[in-house]
Amino acid sequence: MDETALDTTAPLNVQHPLIRTAYANAAPGARARGAIVALAELTNCHPANGCCAPWGEAEPDVWHWVLADIRALPHPIPCTGRQRLWTPEPATLIALHAEIEVAT
Ligand SMILES: [Zn+2]
Repeated sequence: MDETALDTTAPLNVQHPLIRTAYANAAPGARARGAIVALAELTNCHPANGCCAPWGEAEPDVWHWVLADIRALPHPIPCTGRQRLWTPEPATLIALHAEIEVAT
């Protein structure tokens, strides 16, 4: 498990007031800076063309991912955030499988 994701003493570097409020009101154990919070199936992708409002970015060279079967995990799994597709570390996969067992 990535221990850096659990650092709750690091200075908060979030500018959006709603995120700052949510972080300030979160229980200490829930203040991980990065976490896997759900599972989903990637079913398709397409280039941005003004679709997927209000969440889809419309900038050139942006692709949208189409997700299905989105399932929230019972407990977040601390994990450093990343962009693009990636393979979790073995310890993260073990924790993820344990959460799937709890959820089913
Ligand atoms: Zn789209």
